[in-house]
Amino acid sequence: MNKVIYLDNAATTKPAPEVVEAMLPYYTEHYGNPSAIYSIAAECKEAVNSSRDTIARVLGAKSNEIYFTAGGTESDNWALKAAYEAYSSKGNHIITTKIEHHAILHTCDYLESKGCEVTYLDVDEYGVVDLEQLKAAIRPETILISIMFGNNEIGTIEPIKEIGRIAHENGIVFHTDAVQAFGQVPINVDEMNIDMLSASGHKLNGPKGIGFLYIRKGLKLRSFIHGGAQERKRRAGTENVPGIVGLGKAVERADRTMKERTAREAELRDYLIKRVTEEIPFTRLNGHPENRLPNNANFCFRFIEGESMLIMLDMKGICGSSGSACTSGSLDPSHVLLAIGLPHEIAHGSLRLTLSEETTRDEIDFVVDNLKEIIAKLRSMSPLYEDYIAKHPEEA
Ligand SMILES: *Cc1c(COP(=O)(O)O)cnc(C)c1O
Repeated sequence: MNKVIYLDNAATTKPAPEVVEAMLPYYTEHYGNPSAIYSIAAECKEAVNSSRDTIARVLGAKSNEIYFTAGGTESDNWALKAAYEAYSSKGNHIITTKIEHHAILHTCDYLESKGCEVTYLDVDEYGVVDLEQLKAAIRPETILISIMFGNNEIGTIEPIKEIGRIAHENGIVFHTDAVQAFGQVPINVDEMNIDMLSASGHKLNGPKGIGFLYIRKGLKLRSFIHGGAQERKRRAGTENVPGIVGLGKAVERADRTMKERTAREAELRDYLIKRVTEEIPFTRLNGHPENRLPNNANFCFRFIEGESMLIMLDMKGICGSSGSACTSGSLDPSHVLLAIGLPHEIAHGSLRLTLSEETTRDEIDFVVDNLKEIIAKLRSMSPLYEDYIAKHPEEA
């Protein structure tokens, strides 16, 4: 095998051929500006609206509650910053969690510099938010609860419906970053008490640089980008028509294939988890054992440095990801792994493998076989491991 085995689908996914095919005409003959009145423009406008309708239908929302953005990060920024402004007369307190994506956490940092107070909820060893702690954190001045649907590192799915219910019982707006979950688990904004939801095209076999924010009708959020009248004046700028068309197709496809695709992925994921945890010593599974995204597996290997493992996997053509942020010049391990209570030295040896619908059992076998060798090799060079084994010879 010398092809690439791509197991980093939480970072981005391969655009589906039908998505690319749907987009192409909007780079060539259908180049009109949707705001113009001649017919080549009207076709573009229709395509944009048809994508909006598709997304609304899949979420159980109304079309005029879907706002296109440049991706998950923009949607998260919009939701938090605009809610903070819009509800400033009510209060300045936001509740989120310690395991959010940086698009949420760094936006919260920014808002704190503007006078916002943020509560970062703990999670348990599996990464699940404690609903009692959430209730206790609510204050009269709480204006927003923002809690992610599915975690991008460890895959844990949060009790979104219950969180939404608690928010609504207290008259608080509820936003969820569903960038990982949308397209992988069924979502209905009414049934789940969601007021705002962020999603992104490139995490569901769609194009990069396009996403949307669902905003429940009646929320008094202001514009995020000022300019023309696009997106009902809330997010100005000429629409990314090819991107929007691709996103609509990706959402339609994800919805159509969800049941079969995710069942198959979950089965292979469980096979991967079983083999890795049974065949590689000193290994733990991170994230919730059952309640997790169907394509996510995340492990910590003791006495291993994540970065070295990734480099050796790459030499075998295997793409994975590690929570440790050594590449960015920082030695801090993943904030998510620390939040579930792992000590630094264990959090450093993490590996996230996220499957796609194209992943095969042979690929999983190839990955596990190589991983076993790589870990044995790295441990054989590790003084910490040598030390440990010298003291616990029965575990060697
Ligand atoms: C990828 C991701 C984002 C950012 O989305 P982009 O479209 O890449 O900006 C936000 N939140 C989560 C949970 C993600 O996985």
